[in-house]
This record gives sequence, C-alpha cells and structure tokens, in this order.
Amino acid sequence: MSSVVCLPKGGGGAMADGLRKRYPFLDLGEVNSGYASELEEAALRVIRSGRYIGGEEVVAFEKELATLTGVDHAIGVSNGLDALRLILRGYVEMGVMQPGDEVIVPANTYIASILAVSDAGLTPVPVDARLDSMNIDTSLIEGAVTSRTRGVMTVHLYGRVAWDEQLMEVARRYGLKIIEDCAQAIGARSPLDGLNSSRRVGGLGDAAAFSFYPTKNIGALGDAGAVVSNDAELIRTVKALANYGADRRYHNIYCGWNCRLDALQAALLRVKLKHIDSENADRFERALVYERSITHSAIVKPLMSRWVTDNVWHQYVVRLARGSREEFREELLRRGVETDVHYAVPPHLQPCYAGKLKGYFPVTVQLAREVVSLPIATGTSVKDAAEIAEIINSMKV
Ligand SMILES: *Cc1c(COP(=O)(O)O)cnc(C)c1O
Repeated sequence: MSSVVCLPKGGGGAMADGLRKRYPFLDLGEVNSGYASELEEAALRVIRSGRYIGGEEVVAFEKELATLTGVDHAIGVSNGLDALRLILRGYVEMGVMQPGDEVIVPANTYIASILAVSDAGLTPVPVDARLDSMNIDTSLIEGAVTSRTRGVMTVHLYGRVAWDEQLMEVARRYGLKIIEDCAQAIGARSPLDGLNSSRRVGGLGDAAAFSFYPTKNIGALGDAGAVVSNDAELIRTVKALANYGADRRYHNIYCGWNCRLDALQAALLRVKLKHIDSENADRFERALVYERSITHSAIVKPLMSRWVTDNVWHQYVVRLARGSREEFREELLRRGVETDVHYAVPPHLQPCYAGKLKGYFPVTVQLAREVVSLPIATGTSVKDAAEIAEIINSMKV
C-alpha cells in the first residue's frame, strides 16, 4: 500500500484515511439530493391528497411510463420481482402456459428473474452467457427449446440491451412469449434500429417488468415496480392478480395477491422519470471515461456499445483476468475506491436451486469469479472516474 505519509501502525490508520479522498460505490442520499425540492413537493402533495394506494398519482405515473416505453399499457406494482411474477402467473391464468412448462432464462442474471418463473409453477431452463456482453448467448437458445418451452426471458443485465435477430427468430419459430426483465435498463433502446432507434426496452417483447428499487437507474424511495405490455388481456389479468384477484370490487376471479404501488412512490417516481435520458447520458459519460482511461493489462473492460443508447450502464462491470479478486478489491478500498460484485454466486449454484437448475454454465461461472463493478452512479463525477482509472492503472495485479 503506497501511503502518502509514514505513520505508525494502529492509531495512524484513521488519520491516513482522513487524508485520502473516498470514492463511494453508491450514495443514495447523493442520488436523490439533486431532486430534493421536487421530491418534497411531490410527497407533500400525496400527504395532503388523502389517497395513498392507487389514485391519480399512480394513474399518471402509469401513463408516463407507457409513453416512455412506447407501449399501450403500464401498471404500477409493488416491486420488480412481483412485476415478473405477475406476468408469468398471468400467462398461466390465461392458459398461455401450463404448470410445468419451460421458460428459458439467462444463467447469468440476478436471481429474481428466475425466482419469478419457478414461483409461477413453471420450469426455468438456464442458458449460458456470452463472455463479452455478459448477457444470454442467443446462439444457444434454440438448443434449449423442447416441446414444453413456452417463453424466453431476456434480461438486459447491467443496462445492456439483450435483444437481437436470433432471439426474435427463435421466439417466432417456436411461438415463444418474450418476457423482458428491464429492472436494470430503463430507457435503453434497441440496438437493431441503429442510432435513431425509437424502440425502448419494455416495448421490444410481449411483456416487460421494471424495478424501481432505490439503487436502479430510476429508483423510488422504497420498493416499486411496473408491468408494461401491449397485450390487453395480459394487462387485465395482471391488474386483477395484483389486487387480490378481483376484476371488480369484491369479485375475485383468481386467488390473487396484493402487489399494488403506493401513491407516494408513484409521485416520487414521476419526478425522476422525466430525467431518465439525462441520468442515463451521465452514466454513459462516466463509462466512456473508464473505457478511455483504464489501461491495466489484467482488466477486461465491458464492450462499448455500437450505439450509445443500447446500454444505460446500470453497472460498469470489468473482469479481472488474473490475480485474486478479493485482494484487488481490498487494495482498491485501501486507496479509497469502493467496488461491488454483481454477482458472486450465480442462481444455479444458490442453495435454493441446488439440483433443480440443471446444466453446465461455464461462462456464467467464470463471470461470477471475475466480475468487479466500479462506481458509476450519480455522486461519481467524470473526474472521479478518471481518478479511479488512474488508481487502477497503478495497481500491481
Ligand atoms: C432488481 C432486479 C430485480 C428485482 O427487482 P426488485 O424491485 O428488487 O424486486 C429483478 N431482476 C433484475 C435483473 C434486477 O436487477
């Protein structure tokens, strides 16, 4: 560790830390401070309205999200996992999928994507990732299709759009529903339409789930999520399922759940949703600084997009090609740089899926061993990113 000043062991540590600039991985207070007065105004509006579940704030939020994603319908729900569960259970209630049917999922994802499938009584069938995009390897999807396959979930992991001709072609040929997990990619646009793409994630497949967990690119001040789709029947089903299964008051056609969105969260989200493109553009700027400045030979940087809009950089994830990840992260921390790992244990190796998610996913396992996420959220300036890159370049790995 190269310290600026020589200090005795023990008591000197705190002082040395005090001298050094810190680079937090994510400071949610900082993320929301830019919107403080608007958020306070929105909260006050809800407090005074006397309407705390549903109501006009939720309706307005749903309309604004539908417009943003270019779909006919959006429903605000309790969180991202519930949004995914509602879509899959919705397909089961509609008879589009039967219990035991298979849904193809990326092996390299946050476990919530897969939990939603098994929760609906469906069988998740993982498909390995590509090492460069870290997203589902679409060339492997067809090989995983069986007579029971009914859907494929595409997850735009780390903000990178997972969408190509091959995915669409296989879905078309086998009549599969495409469910998008947009939790990490709000605002991102399809790479197929080039620079002027108007199609955003959520409007690419048959149905999509969003999460507004506080750490996402657009985060609530608590839990929140949404389902979007052009399928009016699915939307009707999801709406009922999210409200105890009732299609009208005290008339329950399903044994449903309570997955509603708070008016307070909807009002807060409306403030932030307006700024989605500038938030994402700022993330791109920081990613570009990392791309240009990190030159360390042990670091494999993420693919830079061909179009600036097909990755909204929810995370900036590098791979450590040699050396110990834990030592690398500890050394960075000693130099003030907080990092994170998304994710250290893939879903198929989690205890809850032991022996249930069958298959061999070497790329996913490699990624789990090598990935490190660098600070990229609001609160990390372009200058910070340049300094972090310098610190990384000077490290002995
Ligand atoms: C965050 C996340 C979810 C779950 O969203 P919650 O709102 O936390 O329930 C699902 N899928 C992915 C890829 C996520 O990152």
